[in-house]
Parts: sequence; C-alpha cells; structure tokens
Amino acid sequence: MTESNKLSKGLVQVYTGNGKGKTTASLGLVFRALGHGLRIHVMQFMKGQTTYGELETAKIFADRLTIEQVGTPKFIKAGQQTAADRELAQSAFARAQMLVASGDYDLVVLDELNCAIDFNLVELEAVKELIRSKPAHTELVITGRNVHPDIIELADLVTEMREIKHYFNAGQAARVGIES
Ligand code: ATP
Ligand code: MG
Repeated sequence: MTESNKLSKGLVQVYTGNGKGKTTASLGLVFRALGHGLRIHVMQFMKGQTTYGELETAKIFADRLTIEQVGTPKFIKAGQQTAADRELAQSAFARAQMLVASGDYDLVVLDELNCAIDFNLVELEAVKELIRSKPAHTELVITGRNVHPDIIELADLVTEMREIKHYFNAGQAARVGIES
C-alpha cells in the first residue's frame, strides 16, 4: 500500500446474471470512487466492436482512471472462439494480473471476465489465483454472465441482475449512450 491508496480494505464483488446492468453498475461504482480520489483501472474483456462512452469519459479523468478495452472486432459466439480471441483475452488478463499485483489501484474492474472464463479464453485457475493474491487494499469487481461457482465461493459479494423485462425483446436496438 502506498500513500496514495485510499482504501484500507478491498473486497471482491461480482455482478452477474442475464439482465442488463452489470457493466453499468461497475461504472457507477467507478463514478462514486472517482469522487473520493480513488485510483481506478478498468479492463474490458471481449469488447473490440464498439467505442463505448466510458472510454471517452476516462480521458477526462485520466489522472485517476484508465480503461482498456480488449477484443477482436467480431462479436464472439459460443463455440466459435478463435485463436485471436484467446490471445487477446490472455494478454489482457496477464496485464490485469500485473496491474492488480502492483498495488497501485484502489479499484480494479475486470468487465466480462466471467464470460471470458465461460468461453475458455482465460483460465479459471489463474483468475482464482488473482483473487486470492490481490493486495488487501484493492477492491476487485468482476462482471459478466455465467459466473463460475468457484468464483462465487471466493467473492465477498455476488449480485445477480435478473431480466424481468428488456426492450430488446420488443425490437428496441442498442442505443449509443445507453448500451454503448
Ligand atoms: P450494460 O452494459 O448495459 O450494463 P450488461 O453488462 O449487464 O449490460 P452484458 O451481458 O455485458 O450486459 O450484455 C452485452 C450487451 O447486451 C449490452 O449492450 C447490454 O445492454 C445488452 N443486454 C444486457 N442484458 C440484456 C438482455 N437481457 N437482453 C438483451 N440485451 C441485453
Ligand atoms: Mg457487460
């Protein structure tokens, strides 16, 4: 822990489920943490397709917030993962391991990491090791559908976003500024 770290105790949170709001919730936490001067890193897995609004926002808070987005331009379907998907996810995870271990961050968000595990792009055991060995002051947030039971076991908090109703099913397409 360095003098610039603001959290005395960091926990492990998971946002999962099939309803909308997992990435949004993690970014809400980032917004709150920024207000207290926390240092934040967000690594977004499996997201090479779109320029998300949060990437632009991060430029405004560049001294305390970094967001990296990693993925191939194609939407990944289950069973159709490519070597390129695997390589990108694994190098992003290696970087996340290094950033967490550095202890420089109060809050680290690993967005869609559950999906990257589920799609066999990142090793479950490596994620478990990252959770177990994280610095005590670093808050770790892992998002994505289909969280593995071992990750639930290791987490301090697990919230499930459950779809009750979603406008997508009524034909409403994703909107810039709301979904991206
Ligand atoms: P968001 O990024 O909006 O907070 P999310 O992180 O909970 O959503 P993901 O599982 O990452 O959702 O889904 C990726 C995309 O699918 C996002 O554009 C998201 O808004 C959208 N989405 C999320 N849940 C649903 C749903 N139940 N039906 C249709 N689309 C959804
Ligand atoms: Mg998401």
